Order: sequence, then C-alpha cells, then structure tokens
Amino acid sequence: MAIPSEPQPAARPDTGPGPAGRATPDSATPSTPGPTTPSPSAAAPPIYPLSLRLEGRRAVVVGGGSVALRRVAGLREAGAEIVLVAPRLTPALADMAGRGQITAHERGYQPGDLDGAWLVLACTDRPEVNEAVAADAERQHLWCARADDAAASAAWVPAVGRAGAVTVAVNAGRNPRRAAELRDRFVDTVGTVDRSAAKEQAPAAGEGAPGRVSIVGGGPGDPGLITVTGLRRLREADVVVADRLAPLALLEQLAPGVHVVDAAKVPGGPAMRQDHINHALVEHARAGRAVVRLKGGDPFVFGRGREEVEACLAAGVPVEVVPGVTSAISVPAAAGIPVTHRGVSQGFCVLAGHVRPGDSRSSVDWVALARSGMTLVLLMSVDHLAEIADTLISAGLGGGTPAAVVSDGWSRQQRVVTAPLRDLAGAVRAAGVTNPAVVVIGDVAQFASTGLGIPGAPPSPGEMSSPGDATSSGEGFGSAPPAQPGTGARAGGADGSAGSARRVLVLGGARSGKSATAEGMLAGDCPVDYVATGTPPGSGDAEWDTRVAEHKQRRPAHWRTVETLALAEVLAAPGPAPVLVDCLTTWLAQVMDDCGAWDGTDGTAAALAERTDALLEAWRHTGRQVIAVSSEIGSGVVPDTASGRRFRDELGRLNARIAAASDEVWLCTAGIARRLQ
Ligand code: SAH
Repeated sequence: MAIPSEPQPAARPDTGPGPAGRATPDSATPSTPGPTTPSPSAAAPPIYPLSLRLEGRRAVVVGGGSVALRRVAGLREAGAEIVLVAPRLTPALADMAGRGQITAHERGYQPGDLDGAWLVLACTDRPEVNEAVAADAERQHLWCARADDAAASAAWVPAVGRAGAVTVAVNAGRNPRRAAELRDRFVDTVGTVDRSAAKEQAPAAGEGAPGRVSIVGGGPGDPGLITVTGLRRLREADVVVADRLAPLALLEQLAPGVHVVDAAKVPGGPAMRQDHINHALVEHARAGRAVVRLKGGDPFVFGRGREEVEACLAAGVPVEVVPGVTSAISVPAAAGIPVTHRGVSQGFCVLAGHVRPGDSRSSVDWVALARSGMTLVLLMSVDHLAEIADTLISAGLGGGTPAAVVSDGWSRQQRVVTAPLRDLAGAVRAAGVTNPAVVVIGDVAQFASTGLGIPGAPPSPGEMSSPGDATSSGEGFGSAPPAQPGTGARAGGADGSAGSARRVLVLGGARSGKSATAEGMLAGDCPVDYVATGTPPGSGDAEWDTRVAEHKQRRPAHWRTVETLALAEVLAAPGPAPVLVDCLTTWLAQVMDDCGAWDGTDGTAAALAERTDALLEAWRHTGRQVIAVSSEIGSGVVPDTASGRRFRDELGRLNARIAAASDEVWLCTAGIARRLQ
C-alpha cells in the first residue's frame, strides 16, 4: 500500500471505474478521517489496510448523488445492509429503494441515523453535512469515509478490482487516477499469474483431465468487440478453432503453444466441413484440452452454434456458449445506422439472403416482410440484392425506401453504399462492394454516415479501426472510407461540441481518388450541396466540362450541384446540407484569372489576398459541414513558367491555411486515403 504523505483529494465522482467486468464502482478515491482525526502529513504513520466482511452488517450512506451511487454499488456487492439518507436520490438509487434492495430515508441527515451502523459513508455535496456525519461517527466510534475531504476523513475507500478470488485494493497517495490505473494493472497481473499456475497444476492433455469447449462469439471483426468473458476463454485456450469472420487479430496474442485450427468457410472457396469442425472440437476436448471455437459475431446468429453445441453434448463433452456482438446490429451501427429509432422504426428483422427469394430452399415470407414496417437487416445477401429488392418492391415496399450496404464493418476496409431500394443493387455493383456485408432496408438507413464517432468504439488492441487508415476504392458514388470511431467527426468538430460544423480538407495529386474519397465521406448524407468551382458548362472549356460531367455522373442523383466561384457566400449561407467543394485548385486558378494575378504585381496580389482571406474567414466560421478537395503541392516538380510557380506557391499557401483551420486533413494516393491531421 502506498503511504499517503499528503492529504488525499476529495473523491471525484467522475473517476470512472476500470475496464468493465473487473473494477467495482468503488474505484474512486479515498474518502476520510473525521474532524478530530489529525491530518496526514509527511510524518504521519502509514494507513492500516483492512478488509471488511460486511455481509448482513449495516452500512449507512449519507447522500443520494453519483458518489453515493458508486459507494452503494460496492457495498451491495459486499452484501452489506444499506441504509441511505438523502432528500433526493438519483434514479438508479430510487429504483434500488423501490425494489427493496436498500433502505432509503428521503430526508436530510439527522442525529441518530448512524445507530446500528458498522460503517458510515458521507457523500453529500455539502461539506457541513459530511462534517456533522463524520463528527457523529467519531463520537460513536464508527469508521466514516468522507467523500469531500480526504484529509478530514477517518477511512479511505481504495480503488478496488477483482480477479477471481483475489481482491485488489489500491491507495496511491493523492492521485485517484493512478490508484485506478495501478488497480487495473494488478488485476491483469493476477489474471496472468493465475492462468500460468493453473496450466502448471493441470494434468497434461491426454492424462485424463476433463476438456471443454467454449463457443465464443468474437463480434464483427474488430478485436475490441469481443466480450470480457470471450477474451478470458481465449487466453485460457489450448486450442482455438477460428472462423474467417472472427476477430483474427486476437490470434496474435495467444501464447506460443496454443494450437490454432483454421476453420474458415470462404463462400465458393476452400472450407472445412461442419462435421469435421464438430469432430475437431470433440476430439480436442476429449484429449483434455480447453477448446475455444472462435466465431464472428454471435454464435447463434447464422453461426451454426447450436449444431456444435449438440455435437459436444452428444459426445458428453462439457460445452458453453459465450455470446458475441452480432454483425446484424453492430455493422449498421458502424455506419451510424440504428436498427431501431424512436418515431422511425419499432423493430427489426434479421434474415439471411444467401438463397434467392424464389428458390425452393427459401422459407422467407417476403410479402409479409414488405408490409411489416420493420427495418430489414439482411446478412449474406449481396449476391442476390437485385432479386431481393425487386421482390420487396413487387410486394409493396416503396422503391424509394432508404437502403444501405455496409461491407467489412469495423475494419479499415469498411465501406458504405446508400441508395433508394430500387437503385441499391446497381449502386453496390458500381461501387464494387462485396461480402461480407450487411444490408439495411428501411427509413433508418437514412442515418448512414461515415463520419460518426461511436462512443466506446475501438481504439482497440489491433488498431483495426484507427483513424487515418481509411481505404477508399476511388470508385466514386457511394463508396466511403470507414467510419472513424473516436474522431468525433460528424458528432463533434474540432471543439468536440455535438453537432458543430466539421471542416475537412482532402488533398491528392491528379487521379489520386481525392474527389471520390470526399464524395464517399458524404455518401450517406442527403442532400449534399456539391460545389463545382468553375465556369458553367458550355463556357468554352471543354476539358473542364468533361470533368464536371464525369464527376456528376457518379454522384447520387439527389445531390445538388452548384457551379460557382462564390465559395465564401456558400459557406456563409445557412443550410443543413453538407457542402462538398471540388475543388480549391480550380477555384484558385479562376480567382487568379479574375484578379489577373499571374504576374504577381502589387495590385493584383492584394486583390487575390482579399479573395483568399475572405474564403479563409468563411471557412473558419461556417456553420455547415464542409469538405474541400484540393491538389497536393509538394511533389517536387518545379513548373517551368513563372506563372506556374506562382500558382504552385499560392496553392501551397492556400492549402496550408485551410489545413490549419480544418478539423481533418486527408491525403489520397492511388485511391488510398490517409488522415494527416
Ligand atoms: N454469426 C455472425 C453472422 C454469420 S453469417 C454474426 O452474428 O454476425 C456471415 C454474414 O455476416 C456475412 O455474410 C455478412 O452478411 C455478415 N457479417 C459478418 N461480419 C461482418 C462484417 N464485419 N461486416 C459486414 N458484414 C458482416
């Protein structure tokens, strides 16, 4: 235990518990000695750690806020009889009181409230109340932990974590976060030590030790989305039988001796037969091994999990199922699509589309689905998308129903294609999107967004979804780089405020895929104001006209195209639609033309500066989400004319200034987008 040489800070209600499943809510901080207790100082003796067995013993909690909630959670885990005194309770505390899990007196603290208690926790937000409680406790010789004033508290609550039978409790001087951090590390260490001890003590495989099979849902592919129990089973495994769509990055973390069986079933490709998989599970377990059957998503959603359970049961092998995060819900979520949404969809239906609607093997009632009003989530269905859409439309579902396809969810390769149902199959084909993909049909698909930050989403061990590694196909319409968990993109701008504007600059050389990348970033948005910066078609620049036509063709039909050089005005105009500026290079060339700025004389330079300053001002203050495409300067090629060099320098300056005022900057090379800023 660390020796607190300084007064402990007050408990911070916002100090979150450690990783799910192991830290108790009491991981906050010290709380402490009563008014008569001398403050700890450099000369103070160390604290005396003690583990309390509170089962059936009364603990009085004074306070009804978030600190009290955390304390109550910890006390409940320890089996204490909890009496809580507070004029107001948080909803969770009120719920516990309503269900008789705690006794609550909804009033202010009164002398006598501590009678019968073994332990007192003073957690109100009023120091004078906490002080009175602590003083009464002191008089009654009760240990009291004060949440607001560690120095005046007789007892401190450590950061607590548990690993099996081991409880870790840490006090770390004045630093509660450090205590929580150390607690997490110690809990991890306990887990590692326990596992290797168990391995040493266990009879060797084949020596009559009982084996077991754990059928573990690994989630949609990102290693951060497996459950805590699933990960634990994986760490304990002797043999791992892994599927193609399982989070394979986790295999890297296995101990060296662990045997990995590749049971991938690649559609139309090599496959390990199901009976062979069942056989392998049973035989390894019979040989006394801990077997993990690692699957993608959830084992019981199109996972043949029950067949494997039955094979084990038939062979008398102990088997368990550890559920996982199914792609049916989580992959749409990766693109910002909730499968239900208040006022939009009251339910969802998950089905497989691996056989055509008319196929004799299909047992799906498509007519009922078309009329259900529910969100339809289709797995394994990309190959039959056209027939599925036609069948649903013939059965009465509107051809304009929003729809989305999300492929390779939660990976760097994630792509999102959105289109009305009638156009979905064509859009998917055009974008070259293939399996694995989840199809969402229903009004919720309109929420598709590639820029959504998903709370709690990976930063994960395998950095699978790390921002900056997006891949864009350069296919144009509808294909988008992955959602950027954690970037706060759509959900928050540079300042992190919800709903604020997001400014993105996408740079790239000629034919680098920069425009397609930018279009992909807005693939789920409707409508988008697409600003083509140049002269209207037919003004005499045939090459420009062709480019505009080409870009226009691959954009969704519902985007609005505006051809204008008045960028500052567009950015200043109010409007909910995101703006895509394509591109700053042509804008600058046109503006330099307008100003006659090619020779760099003073007057023309000032006119140019005025236009670029105005653009910068509008960029900084725009209330709209805006993505601008520009040519990257820096390839080292020196233009052979003075005007060419001037243009290069001006564009370089403009890019740098826009970049400095942007929330994100991306660079595209050969269709691959990387985030620079
Ligand atoms: N048990 C799995 C589903 C297995 S069926 C689960 O609960 O998620 C395989 C199908 O799941 C694929 O064809 C695809 O439709 C979907 N799928 C699985 N992982 C996916 C991913 N990362 N991205 C998109 N679709 C995925």
